[in-house]
Amino acid sequence: MATLAAVVGALTLLAVLNPLRQPDGADLGPQSSGARFVEAEVGAGDRPEASATPSSVSSTPSAGALPGATDALPGATRTDALPPVVDHGPRRGNKVALTFDADMTDAMRRQMRGGAGTSYANLKIIDRLEQEGVPATFFLTGMWVEQYPDVTRRLADNPRFELANHTYGHHAFTADCYGLPRIAPRKMTADVARTFDLVSAYGGRQTRYFRFPGLCHDRAALTALAPLGLTVVDGDVVSGDPFATAWQPIVRAVLDQVRPGSVIVLHVTEANAPMTDEALPHILAGLAERGLEPALLSEVLATG
Ligand SMILES: [Zn+2]
Repeated sequence: MATLAAVVGALTLLAVLNPLRQPDGADLGPQSSGARFVEAEVGAGDRPEASATPSSVSSTPSAGALPGATDALPGATRTDALPPVVDHGPRRGNKVALTFDADMTDAMRRQMRGGAGTSYANLKIIDRLEQEGVPATFFLTGMWVEQYPDVTRRLADNPRFELANHTYGHHAFTADCYGLPRIAPRKMTADVARTFDLVSAYGGRQTRYFRFPGLCHDRAALTALAPLGLTVVDGDVVSGDPFATAWQPIVRAVLDQVRPGSVIVLHVTEANAPMTDEALPHILAGLAERGLEPALLSEVLATG
């Protein structure tokens, strides 16, 4: 029986997330007209060893609090300047980056508790990528990591997968971001640092890549994150997969926009992006037809 609370929760969820169908990019902020890409400072071969496990959290140095300790990671930047904002790599070569956002909000967590079987981890996507040996980069919210530690471990253990940061609880970092609840500006730095800490405990291919919820950022948000030494990654190919009711429009959106160096934005949040796994094989086939090859984000930003 659907309770009023569950209905309100579902409506809130739709109200909050449905606007993400819109082409992200309407509010990229003043910094988005700056650097469209940067050469990554280190190559993918300089990745950290996959060794840490969640059990080592207490003894792991705080990556968020110690920016100097993260210099070797892809996407690591100086901590005394605004973070670079990129939405694609160089337009040469044939590499493109498949990126999957793992959103998790308070509303989604309530939905999981209230609804039987609601999943925000699309294992069919991960299965497919693993079966075909396709590289991908995952932007994880801290709350998603807490909800899905086993899936996070699986992602971290795959050398073809790269891990990145999508905030702790998917709050808006600007005043107007698709109706997402806004984080207090004084909490921005700690929110993102905490998420780096949560993700880095799993080891694997760690990065200092970060994506704002809804791709919404402004100078104040970038200033807040500067001490963390990260690179902000938007994306030039928005798939529109949230709340899709058919896979064909997702495939069309991706294949119509994709070019060498593209960063493709998809979601691994099954319940509110339920067609992405069905779209994925068609996307992979379409990329192959065009001579485009999926690669880690760090490789795409470095070499194109
Ligand atoms: Zn998101």
